[in-house]
Amino acid sequence: METREVIIIGSGPAGYTAAIYAGRAGLKPLLFEGSITWGGALMNTTEVDNYPGFPEGILGPDLMTAMRAQAERFGAEIITDDVIAVELTKTPKTITASSSGVHLAETVIVATGASYRKLGLPSEENLSGRGVSWCATCDGFFFSGKDVAVVGGGDSAIEEALYLARFANSVTVIHRRDALRAEAIAVEKAMAEPKLTFAWNSVVSAINGENNVESVTLTDTITGQTRELIIDGLFIAIGADPSSDLVRGQLELNPDGYVVVNHPSTATSVPGVFACGDLVNFGYRQAIIAAGDGAKAAMDALAYLNSNP
Ligand code: NAP
Repeated sequence: METREVIIIGSGPAGYTAAIYAGRAGLKPLLFEGSITWGGALMNTTEVDNYPGFPEGILGPDLMTAMRAQAERFGAEIITDDVIAVELTKTPKTITASSSGVHLAETVIVATGASYRKLGLPSEENLSGRGVSWCATCDGFFFSGKDVAVVGGGDSAIEEALYLARFANSVTVIHRRDALRAEAIAVEKAMAEPKLTFAWNSVVSAINGENNVESVTLTDTITGQTRELIIDGLFIAIGADPSSDLVRGQLELNPDGYVVVNHPSTATSVPGVFACGDLVNFGYRQAIIAAGDGAKAAMDALAYLNSNP
């Protein structure tokens, strides 16, 4: 069986960019993009206004289709299949996919991303992109002068709320307890922001609106009473889960389950294995960061192959 120089697992901006760079370096990469969904989180995004090079913006799926085509143009072989097991410490490394079986590689780039936690409400998916968002940096601008709310009490929620306060008319932070989990310095900033108010001991029990978010129903966690909060946008910032189950037990993970890399490189705890994108860089969560990281991973894989002929 042929041993590939590089196999890439994951098809978001990190994976496809790694494939573009590895392809241009002559490594003939093999990329697994997943059998049901490919393209990562941007496939569920409408307008992407902040990806450089598109002054008029571009739709998330169009951006990912273009990245995929660019990877193929430089010789990447893309397999639409799910990787179900890996053996990363072996030489060569083995990658097992559900339909296509076992594949061998000298180096592996893992770019399986992370997924935002959801509230689990029926209307959450329907109104996604129509007022419900998981990314203030991506969508905040569309809410200039509007009333918005952020769910969560951690650093992400406070960061999102402070970012939104730059454009929005008002920002309500909805938190299920009466104390924030975010760092003290962030809490101090939030308390000093006049556009920010808090709905303490509250959970979102319904997101209301036909075509766009019109309001949310809040339930008080202590009294059980409900009330309606009129808003145009709901930003959900209750954490994310890295897709690291595949490599758990083989690569060093941090306590939150993200792959640990030897910054500024993308080298993991196992020689010849590189990790990039949201699987590593949760704090940034931007396509441009993931793409840059994917380029780094391909360059790191090439350097590894050159020094381990
Ligand atoms: P997090 O720290 O896990 O906070 C999640 C928040 O959402 C918590 O306040 C939690 O409430 C709430 N929550 C969880 N599930 C919920 C649900 N189903 N319904 C309602 N509320 C729910 O996540 P994060 O804020 O995304 O941060 C993740 C990590 O990244 C943290 O280590 C954080 O410090 C770090 N981070 C750092 C920065 C920075 O330094 N600038 C920025 C962003 C993130 P409870 O508090 O009641 O558990």
